[in-house]
Amino acid sequence: MTELSGPRPALDNLSTETRAFPPPEAVAAAANVRADAYERAAADRLGYWAEQARRLAWDTEWDQVLDWSDAPFAKWFVGGRLNVAYNCVDRHVEAGLGERVALHWEGEPGDTRTVTYADLQRLVCQAANGLSSLGLKAGDRVAIQMPMLVEAIVAMLACARLGLVHSVVFGGFSPAALRSRIEDAQARVLITSDGQYRRGEAVAMKDNTDEATAHTPTIERVIVVKRTGTDCGWTEGRDIWWHDLMDGQSTEHTPEAFDSEHPLFILYTSGTTGKPKGILHTSGGYLTQVAYTHHAVFDLKPDTDVYWCTADIGWVTGHSYIVYGPLANAATQVVYEGTPNTPHQGRHFEIIAKYGVTIYYTAPTLIRTFMKWGTDNPAAHDLSSLRLLGSVGEPINPEAWVWYRTHIGGERCPVVDTWWQTETGAIMISPLPGVTRTKPGSAQVPLPGISAQVVDDAGVEVPHGSGGYLVLTEPWPGMLRGIWGDPERFKDTYWSRYAEQGYYFAGDGAKYDNDGHIWLLGRVDDVMNVSGHRISTTEVESALVSHPTVAEAAVVGASDPTTGQGIVAFVIPRGKAAADRDSHITTLRNHVAQEIGAIAKPRQILIVEELPKTRSGKIMRRLLRDIAENRELGDTTTLADQTVMNLITEGLSNQK
Ligand code: ATP
Ligand code: MG
Repeated sequence: MTELSGPRPALDNLSTETRAFPPPEAVAAAANVRADAYERAAADRLGYWAEQARRLAWDTEWDQVLDWSDAPFAKWFVGGRLNVAYNCVDRHVEAGLGERVALHWEGEPGDTRTVTYADLQRLVCQAANGLSSLGLKAGDRVAIQMPMLVEAIVAMLACARLGLVHSVVFGGFSPAALRSRIEDAQARVLITSDGQYRRGEAVAMKDNTDEATAHTPTIERVIVVKRTGTDCGWTEGRDIWWHDLMDGQSTEHTPEAFDSEHPLFILYTSGTTGKPKGILHTSGGYLTQVAYTHHAVFDLKPDTDVYWCTADIGWVTGHSYIVYGPLANAATQVVYEGTPNTPHQGRHFEIIAKYGVTIYYTAPTLIRTFMKWGTDNPAAHDLSSLRLLGSVGEPINPEAWVWYRTHIGGERCPVVDTWWQTETGAIMISPLPGVTRTKPGSAQVPLPGISAQVVDDAGVEVPHGSGGYLVLTEPWPGMLRGIWGDPERFKDTYWSRYAEQGYYFAGDGAKYDNDGHIWLLGRVDDVMNVSGHRISTTEVESALVSHPTVAEAAVVGASDPTTGQGIVAFVIPRGKAAADRDSHITTLRNHVAQEIGAIAKPRQILIVEELPKTRSGKIMRRLLRDIAENRELGDTTTLADQTVMNLITEGLSNQK
């Protein structure tokens, strides 16, 4: 277990992880970013970021790299002006790359669409002209709830081109979740679609958005992309088909340059720890850091790589590593509309083989799902095009990391575990594929230009081998500029804990190993207290997942009259559930005791089929805590699938 409260030796199972993988020679030899970058950035951090900002085309250059005089409200590239959409699209066409494929779009039913950079320029210009014709002006907010369609990306870029602030809401979210986001941002327009394909079926989308917009007087127009042909309600004068609005527009549009600090988007956090916060990002610094990190961490070679990030655009990863980072870098990428097991469990591998994907970026939850589905799926497809794998969203269990490297990466691809948050805008802690000797389960080192530390309660850095809290000690270009409409909550949430030092409090537990590499241990809120010992949920979960019969595990601390909190584990078995449930549970409890220590032995293990997750695949432990403590469920509006909680409670009542 790891003591999160102070610098004590960490006696946990993660620190016994001894496997490590040096960068493959060929990757190291041709890497975009080499070891010298750490030194250069350390010697002149702001100079290093200014160098990165020059990846972009600026209309007016900045006269100051960082203004931190009104901390924690940062201004980056002060006085600089640029157009984000021009940087992601037009400049590549002007550089002669118009015929390069920007998007290999693959629909769930198998329909496809190829969009070159020249096509994308025409589409974005038409959409910008269409949105302007509705009377929208720079600074207005536009809500977007859409499946993974080309139009979703075009809509985001068209907003950016006009200086409109988009707020993308995950397609699976309920009307209530959409409504509260529209209200909070006072959006004038909503862009949506009639329906979406989900697990092979066309399901309604606009009916949901109509339920939300029935109560949102700020919405003047609803633009609807026709995707499934599903019947939907129609409000004359308010609703307009995307094709009716956009298709007749001119394919030319002159981009206007905006201030570096002009708002680009609002995105609500996933609400795993409380009410979602409207995180505000701006233009120049954000685009600099997403372009730079996409180049450095994924080692992108834009002429030859085919990149695929499996995130949804409703999550920050979709914003930074589908839309803005890759497009700023003129990447060719795959965009897939659907679920990974439609029509079969090998769909992702089929897509990798079909498009010759070279870089694949996904979340631990999907890797564990692949593990559960078995090695036959990846083995049945030619995955030899892959050269680099990435992970994001939660701490990746070492077993899942090794499985990923072995069965998907063919033991040749570096795996980069990237730590960041909606708030950070871009990757902060990650190996560099040509430099770092990677360790399964660790995000390892802050990127060049980023300053992170693990500190104790007093804000003092803990020694190697000890645990504490992750903080960011210097401002960074992609950092959030605030919480929409709530500057006090911004200061309180992130800057009050270490106000004296001026550190950003990330809300995650972390520790250093003996090399000083960082291991993320999950949310501070998720740390359990058992008989005075602070135990991280991540470590107990990783211990459970390291047992061959376990596919996924979620652990919570439930109040306990004798121990303060007792550990309750929810476990999804790998393959078929064991016939003798009681002996299986005993085996697993003993396994955890052996891996970590008797204190970490779960009080109770419940076998389930599903776990409640957010759109980014994060487990909503607070809902499981509600079950473990026999309470009524809290807010479930940000669950990716609203039905799982019923499934879990029904399954558990059958077990009793
Ligand atoms: P909320 O703040 O409402 O609870 P959220 O934090 O889940 O929402 P995100 O911004 O998507 O929304 O998640 C960021 C968090 O995800 C990080 O603070 C961290 O806990 C976790 N995380 C992301 N990537 C990694 C990673 N590579 N390793 C460990 N944890 C990660
Ligand atoms: Mg968060």
